Amino acid sequence: MKIAIAGAGIGGLAAAALLAQDGHEVTVFDQFDAPRPVGSGLVIQPVGLAALARIGVLEDAVALGAKVTRMLGREVDNNRVILDVRFPRKGGEFGLAIHRASLFHVLWHGAQTSGATVQASARVTGSHVTRDGRFLDTSSATHGPFDLVVDAMGVNSTLSPLVAKPLPFGALWASVPWPDSELPRDLLSQRYRRADHMAGIMPIGTLPGESTFMAGVFWSLPRAALSLWTGMDFAAWKAEVAAFWPDYAPFVEGLTKPSDMATATYSHGTLKRPYAERLAFIGDAAHRTSPQLGQGANMAILDALALAMALRTHPVADALPAYAAMRRWHVRLYQAMSAAFTPQYQSASRVLPVLRDHVLAPLSRVPPVPKILNRLVSGDIILPLAGQRFP
Ligand SMILES: Cc1cc2nc3c(=O)[nH]c(=O)nc-3n(C[C@H](O)[C@H](O)[C@H](O)COP(=O)(O)OP(=O)(O)OC[C@H]3O[C@@H](n4cnc5c(N)ncnc54)[C@H](O)[C@@H]3O)c2cc1C
Repeated sequence: MKIAIAGAGIGGLAAAALLAQDGHEVTVFDQFDAPRPVGSGLVIQPVGLAALARIGVLEDAVALGAKVTRMLGREVDNNRVILDVRFPRKGGEFGLAIHRASLFHVLWHGAQTSGATVQASARVTGSHVTRDGRFLDTSSATHGPFDLVVDAMGVNSTLSPLVAKPLPFGALWASVPWPDSELPRDLLSQRYRRADHMAGIMPIGTLPGESTFMAGVFWSLPRAALSLWTGMDFAAWKAEVAAFWPDYAPFVEGLTKPSDMATATYSHGTLKRPYAERLAFIGDAAHRTSPQLGQGANMAILDALALAMALRTHPVADALPAYAAMRRWHVRLYQAMSAAFTPQYQSASRVLPVLRDHVLAPLSRVPPVPKILNRLVSGDIILPLAGQRFP
């Protein structure tokens, strides 16, 4: 088939690699002029790693990323452990924390070696379908007809009908060289005060072609404060975070101005039907949530795999509902879990953090809850692709 993919992000490139490997003629359209190392850290959970193995880029991703074996979160005022999730040591499972640019790099390479072509400087503005197939409009031309268009344009998709609800908190992010620190390089650490203060440090490995081991650092802020961030007193902010969590100070020492940190806002929503005639929505174009459970990139890669698998066994008109059915319950469960967990860590609520610290945290240590939490974070608490033996 002739397939157009709108968006060369994580999901779009994963889909491009898989669909080109299956023999389809794949063209990817993206608005960027050239790929750049944008973003900071994200985590690929074991289930997403299994999908990267199917694409054939797992080894390259592991070579660049950092293996995370534990996520540990403490309340700053009393040092109480609030969150402690370990990947099972048996099987050597780990989460791969990686700079978005490094994951992009390996998927970009995977898509191109599989035979997909990429058109840069192609901002997608619309799409329409005729008897001949689906067409894609970019700012300079109309392309097509295609047998299928895949919308992988993420949160700013110009094709997806998804109306997402903005979440009240977002975060500041930066990628920094890992300093001289006692924090282990396989630990994703967080600190909280109630739910209105949260800081995190995650190892993210190296950027392509570089040897400096990096950390992704984040600091939660309400949406209103994020919009005022560029005018903030940066020295005062650094003093605040150093007092909040002394281990954090060396990580942000080299940052000197507000623009050294990127702002990220989050929203929540799920498309009921992630497809239309000859059009499939994957990744953030189909469902959005906060990064609290670390599933965004994971979900996009799984969507890509499900779509490719559905197209192997069905004609396109049947493949799209088959793709949606394969992903429906996994996506819905994780969206629901994320909606339930996020306000415990990022909200102005005074009740939820008390519940978190005094009921949920102790409960999380009572067997079999640690195992359930582990499977939840690993991404396969239920089958990620319904009806398929995967991973
Ligand atoms: C620049 C950027 C930085 C990010 N940084 C982080 C991060 O640090 N940590 C994290 O957890 N997540 C980050 N994300 C989000 C993360 O990549 C996604 O949540 C997740 O990987 C799901 O990806 P996706 O494939 O659905 O979309 P994305 O990976 O967001 O990719 C969407 C792609 O579509 C392209 N696009 C958008 N609109 C158009 C258009 N109209 N025409 C053509 N192309 C278009 C974008 O340029 C982008 O390449 C970032 C996303 C982007 C775009």
